[in-house]
Amino acid sequence: MTLPAKKSEGKAASPLKVLIVAAEVVPFAKVGGLADVAGALPLALQKLGVDVRVVMPKYGRIDNAKFNLQPAVPPFSVPMNEQMETVDIVQGTIGDHIPVYLVHSERYFDREGIYSYQDDDERFILFCRAAVEMLKKLDWSPDVIHCNDWQTAIIPNWMKTLYRDDPFFAGTATVYTIHNLAYQGIFGQRVLEIAGIAEKGFVYPQIPDLAGVVDLMGRGILYADVVSTVSETYAKEILTPEYGEKLDPLLRERQDRLFGILNGIDTELMDPATDSYIAANFDALHQTDRAANKLDLQRDGNLTPDPDVPVIGLISRLANQKGFDILAPVVDPLMNLLNVQLVLLGTGDQYYHEMFGKIAARYPGKAAVFLTFNASLAQKIYAGSDIFLMPSRFEPCGLGQLIAMRYGSIPVVRQTGGLADTVTDFDPTSGEGNGFSFQPYEPMALYATIVRALENYRYKDTWRKLMTRDMQADYSWATSARKYIDLYTKAVAFKKAS
Ligand code: ADP
Repeated sequence: MTLPAKKSEGKAASPLKVLIVAAEVVPFAKVGGLADVAGALPLALQKLGVDVRVVMPKYGRIDNAKFNLQPAVPPFSVPMNEQMETVDIVQGTIGDHIPVYLVHSERYFDREGIYSYQDDDERFILFCRAAVEMLKKLDWSPDVIHCNDWQTAIIPNWMKTLYRDDPFFAGTATVYTIHNLAYQGIFGQRVLEIAGIAEKGFVYPQIPDLAGVVDLMGRGILYADVVSTVSETYAKEILTPEYGEKLDPLLRERQDRLFGILNGIDTELMDPATDSYIAANFDALHQTDRAANKLDLQRDGNLTPDPDVPVIGLISRLANQKGFDILAPVVDPLMNLLNVQLVLLGTGDQYYHEMFGKIAARYPGKAAVFLTFNASLAQKIYAGSDIFLMPSRFEPCGLGQLIAMRYGSIPVVRQTGGLADTVTDFDPTSGEGNGFSFQPYEPMALYATIVRALENYRYKDTWRKLMTRDMQADYSWATSARKYIDLYTKAVAFKKAS
């Protein structure tokens, strides 16, 4: 879809111009699902005729040669508090020559990691300022700046303050997408000085917890022309105190600007028929070829090789959100009473590292635990496991269950957020459903659902049908990308009306 040119101009319709701003983008840098989204949504938008470009930080670990990064904009200075900071922009591409601009600052980004530095506030304020100023250097004024998560949330705030009367951005609307409300970017007042808007006050003094701090996520929500999140259910859940992470009063206030759009996955990258990381390629019509992947996974995990024992896979950030607290009490009964194997790949909180380390030690041959980030091993687990577990306490969208289904691993999930929107509980009587789900955040509910999945696994015909259904379903970005274009159009209209 394109924005129609005014008839009187007599020109061909010019494409909608969208800049996506994100802290992580596949294939350059990834910590979680945000990177998948920021790397895949542009490809789908391009197919629909959008002039889409992406900007992210140039972290130290991103290799210039590997990605053939080229200088895009010569060094320039941006204000940071009283100082000027020099940055330069290099450029790579994704899809069919979609520009990905990478903001390079030796001082702030030439480091090993991505997040969790003391000066994360300064780092991402600098990134955002450079991303905005870069547009002028490129002389490319987008219709929409699409910001994602707290690292980019200052931009909608700036567009309504610092850049409010700047003619270059007169036609630029902002969209702010919440990928996870739990990470808000909460800092002291100094962050506003760094951002050059110190005099603009608190975000929302009506929320007592936030009265004395700067909550960047809150600012994105407050100032963006349109706010979105990554599933319809999560868009509703975050309006409640239970899921609202203290921002629910603000979200309720902006409810008429809040929309939910489900993530897709890059179905070309995530394709069991062509995936080069896995031992044997397969598809819905050649499911027997999948068996080699299970044996390969059992070998990699030092598990007893056995084609018949159900393998439960877990790939996750090891964070409180992901439901390990209800998994912990059921691991022993699961491993002792039922004939299953467990494979976990994850990294995160030390507490969970220890918990899973102990589980691996208790069940040699039955439990394999990899406490690291490993993209190729992740694919092997999707392709080699029979059941994929996501008992999340909350889950904005979740990509794991979508990738698992595409690879024929049947999801067992808690019915929340995007998991509720993508997994429907299997009913053996009617034959309907594509996975197994439960509601109460309780160990017994999870255990009973795993038992139900294992019962169905025993009926090979039933299970094969489930796998076929899941592998043939459409998880591509095509539908959601169209919804994003509608969202961008809405944002442009709101901006015009303001
Ligand atoms: P979140 O964004 O909350 O981390 P999602 O399910 O939306 O959760 O996305 C997680 C993504 O990160 C998936 O693509 C998953 O395969 C990947 N992933 C998570 N942990 C690891 C890991 N330790 N190694 C490799 N990939 C991982």
